[in-house]
Amino acid sequence: MDYYKILGIEKNASDSEIKKAYRKLAQQYHPDTGKGDEKKFKEVTEAYEVLGDKQKRAQYDQFGSAGPGFGAGDFGGFDFKNVNFDFGGNFGDIFDTFFGGGQRTARKKGPGKGGDIEMVLQISFEEAIFGVSKEIEVSAFTNCEHCKGIGAEPGTQLKSCENCSGTGQQVRLQRTPFGQIQTASTCQNCEGAGRIPEKKCKNCKGEGRLLKTQRIKARIPAGIHDQAVIRLTGKGEAGFQGGSSGDLFLHISVAPNKEFERIKDDIYTTKHIHVLQAILGDEITIKTVHGDTKLIIPAGTESGSSLKLKGYGVPGIGSSSKGDHIVKIRIDIPKKLSGKEKKLYDELVKESMLDIKPQSKGFFS
Ligand SMILES: [Zn+2]
Ligand SMILES: [Zn+2]
Repeated sequence: MDYYKILGIEKNASDSEIKKAYRKLAQQYHPDTGKGDEKKFKEVTEAYEVLGDKQKRAQYDQFGSAGPGFGAGDFGGFDFKNVNFDFGGNFGDIFDTFFGGGQRTARKKGPGKGGDIEMVLQISFEEAIFGVSKEIEVSAFTNCEHCKGIGAEPGTQLKSCENCSGTGQQVRLQRTPFGQIQTASTCQNCEGAGRIPEKKCKNCKGEGRLLKTQRIKARIPAGIHDQAVIRLTGKGEAGFQGGSSGDLFLHISVAPNKEFERIKDDIYTTKHIHVLQAILGDEITIKTVHGDTKLIIPAGTESGSSLKLKGYGVPGIGSSSKGDHIVKIRIDIPKKLSGKEKKLYDELVKESMLDIKPQSKGFFS
């Protein structure tokens, strides 16, 4: 099998050329969109699965299609409706064309199981630190109340699916360059349930579920990090004909804060102090996420040093420890001095026995 020839490209084709060629040919041969040549479609898809993957392509270039990493296993599970395309975002339109935008069913994980739902949940800086209860609106398949999710009109039965003899799996023999392979895929007639309603529920047309907007409560724990993911088991889409529900994944997005910077469980702020505070030390008030607190500036503090307020940071998830509040010190040098201040500094220069030539121009107020 010359995968380059199949895709009609040169041996040195770039990744985008490979994608482009595959996209064109896949559309041309797919039964739903083009001439409908299943054999050709499989060929180009197989070629793309190898050449579209850097590692597989390198192996193929070295060993050909009989090389390690290829073979029956890689293509044996091939099913027209279950091709795992990696479109990298640009190919979404093909996905939609092939499957009618049916990403919900394409995402199913087992017979009858409902799809997972992924959502981004924006929370404030404070909510991330102290935790919050949120009510989320989710539009998803939920169990039909009329048939209790079974899909059959109340009082009627489910019967075995003729297409798969109740197994939920379609078994077929496939000829490949490596010989005949038996492949199994989810039955399209019963969607893997193995049973279909004798009389379909009139409310949900036999699906056992309906698209509905639901309000779901989610508890966001104190100390959660930006980009953390919360999984709410069973809060995804209801399964087909009473199959188990998928999960709801909340991707947490924490809004930044103007005053506080958070790194892991520590909070950082910058404090400007007068040069005399740095020399002599001081006790000042610092605003933290837990309210105002006192901070001791030791005498002789250097500019750029960090002072720690222990335990004034973010609570650690699942632990009793807390992060710290780190205060970065910046020393401000006065730009103007009164006449009296100038005199006192001059005395200080003498006292310190410093041999300096003060530049007083533009310095007096
Ligand atoms: Zn129903
Ligand atoms: Zn079936």
